[in-house]
Formats: sequence, structure tokens, C-alpha cells
Amino acid sequence: MLVDLHTHTTASDGTLTPQQLLAAATTAGIDVLSITDHDSVAAYSQLPAATGLELVTGIEVSALWAGRSVHVVGLNVDVHALEDVVRRQTLARERRAERIVERLARRGLDVDLAGIRERAAGAAIGRPHIAAELVAQGIVRDVRTAFRKHLGPGKAGDIKTEWPDLDTAVGWLRAANGTAVIAHPLRYRLTRTALARLAADFRAAGGQAVELVSGHAAEHEVAKIADLAAGFGFRVSVGSDFHAPLAWRSLGVDSARLRRLKPVWDGW
Ligand code: AMP
Ligand code: MN
Ligand code: MN
Ligand code: MN
Repeated sequence: MLVDLHTHTTASDGTLTPQQLLAAATTAGIDVLSITDHDSVAAYSQLPAATGLELVTGIEVSALWAGRSVHVVGLNVDVHALEDVVRRQTLARERRAERIVERLARRGLDVDLAGIRERAAGAAIGRPHIAAELVAQGIVRDVRTAFRKHLGPGKAGDIKTEWPDLDTAVGWLRAANGTAVIAHPLRYRLTRTALARLAADFRAAGGQAVELVSGHAAEHEVAKIADLAAGFGFRVSVGSDFHAPLAWRSLGVDSARLRRLKPVWDGW
């Protein structure tokens, strides 16, 4: 069985529409899919009634923990119960985009907010939309460079203060009957101790699971998270963090890799 519980569409910073993503997932042989757009559930109102695969509702919420931005995936959530959350996060993203544009302007980079909004095309604005606009205006060569010089960690566009704290984000997901999952735990570049502290705080907040496999995880990384999951009694999830077909090597993860761990989809 192929499971992918972390993907993005045009409702956030993905390049495929929800319909196109479904078609691609079907072609890839995915049996269980969740669309987990950044701070949005808009994809779920753009899908056909019959999907041909098992669709699990989801979202990826941006949060703050110990001064860092961390992502919490919510699975099997009641999307209607998240309406206020999505409204709040969309506003936070809007304000953040304005602040990023101001900061860039102060550094002499005149990037057009209207252009960014157009690029987002109604989706909650993310840094990838700003990066694309920087490229379109010829300010940087490509999206990678945009992140490296202007939007990535420690750069002018790295504004995290608008996000709710971890407890709040987990609380939102639990209140919507969802399973809260730490997204891509190794991407925060935490020390072993700090990662354990994140896991402890997450569990104390009501968090239940961790992504065992995210994108193109190496075997030793999977083993590391398996230990973390076992140590904290977390269930495990798997997801590709799919954004665009070109960067897509493997949508879906074979659930045989889960071995002795308890997957999130076993009895939601
Ligand atoms: P945001 O949600 O606005 O904080 O933007 C974060 C998103 O930007 C991530 O979900 C990725 O899709 C994308 N991203 C982060 N770092 C990079 C990078 N170095 N190059 C390209 N995209 C990135
Ligand atoms: Mn993204
Ligand atoms: Mn993420
Ligand atoms: Mn993601």
C-alpha cells in the first residue's frame, strides 16, 4: 500500500491544482493521500466527489517554537472546524508578506506586492510566491538564490513573528478532531537534545505523531526518527512534501518501511 500524507497544491505553494494532484497521485499508484497545504484547506472545496483513492483531509500549520518556525501537519481534520484558523493564518501571511516587501524595499529591492498577490492567485501568500516575483523582476537569478540571499533563515524576509506558538497550533488541530504530526522533524537542524525538547513540548501540547519519512529521507534519517517515535510513543506518518512534478522523485512511500511502528492511519 502506498501512502502519502503530505502534499501541496495551488491552494498554497504547490504547482498542481487539487484536481491535477489527484490525477498525478492516481498515476503514481497512491492508495491513501492527504493534501496538506500551508495554512489552507481550500483544496478540499475544489475536488470532485469521487476521487478513486482514499483521501484524508489535512493541513500544514506554521507555528513558532523556541524562536524557530516549525510546521505541524494536521490529519483527518474537520476542515469546516478550521475556518477561523485558516482566516487567521491567511491574515498573518498577508501581513507578513507586507512586512517582507517593506524590509526588502529598505534594502533597495523594489518588489511589487501586487505582483506577489497575483502570483498567489488567491492562495495564502508564501515566500515561494515572493521568490517567484523576485525572479520575474530580474532581482535574482532563481528561486534558490532568492531564498539564499533574501528569504531564507536569518535573511531580511525571514519573519516568523506572525505565527502562533506550538501549543496553540496543536490545540487548533486537536479541536478540529485532527491528528497533530510534527512535519519533517530533521529539517529544523536541531541538536539531538533540542529535538527531544521539541518532541516533549509537542507531546505535552497534545501532539500525537511524527513524520517518519519526509520527501527523500535517507535510511539513517528514518532510523533516527523511528527511535524518536518509539521513545515518545508517537504514531508515525509518511509524506513526500510534494510541491511540483519536476522536483518529484517519488510521490508516496511504501508503508512496508514502517516496520514495528504504529502508523497514523491505523484507527484515526
Ligand atoms: P512560507 O510558508 O512562506 O514560510 O514558505 C516556506 C516554503 O518555502 C516551504 O514550504 C518550501 O516550499 C519553500 N522553501 C523553503 N526554503 C526553500 C528554498 N531554499 N528553496 C526553495 N523553496 C524553499
Ligand atoms: Mn511549501
Ligand atoms: Mn513544511
Ligand atoms: Mn509541506
